[in-house]
Amino acid sequence: MLPGLPDVAELQLLFAQYNWLYFQGEIPAYRIAYNARFSNLAGRIVYKPPLIELSPKHLAGKPDELRETLLHEMIHAWLHARGQNPGHTATFKKKMRELGLRSIYHDLGKAAPLNESTKRYIIRCEKCTMELLRKRKPAPNLLCARCRKPLVAFEVVEIRPVELGSAASRAR
Ligand SMILES: [Zn+2]
Ligand SMILES: [Zn+2]
Repeated sequence: MLPGLPDVAELQLLFAQYNWLYFQGEIPAYRIAYNARFSNLAGRIVYKPPLIELSPKHLAGKPDELRETLLHEMIHAWLHARGQNPGHTATFKKKMRELGLRSIYHDLGKAAPLNESTKRYIIRCEKCTMELLRKRKPAPNLLCARCRKPLVAFEVVEIRPVELGSAASRAR
């Protein structure tokens, strides 16, 4: 683990704390994990199975960024749990403001066209961590080409691109 990052047990605790502090405990259990493979994502949420992943590379030594990224993904989880549209809707933005998150669009503004993928499924090999993105639901029982292990399919609903220098410019 990189220095300046909470370990996953602490992440899980943060999630629980924020859930009670800001969401009345309405968010169901999510696994919170780091994904070191993210190159242009700060965070990502998958609803099925429930999983929030954070980029260690982009969040190490940046507790505020980490908090904002986790809260951002938790708003998606919260809306989803309430049966509401979990996208970046007006309700989403209202909640962001309530939580004092700095920017309504939060990094999606500039980066969206490039990074907000239309691909909604991930298939991943848990052994070699190979990942593929797919637009359509992948067929069941796929095997990793390298390991011949069964691939796990995730439904991606939202990814959060890394800020492209926007935090620095806002801070000025
Ligand atoms: Zn594999
Ligand atoms: Zn989002």
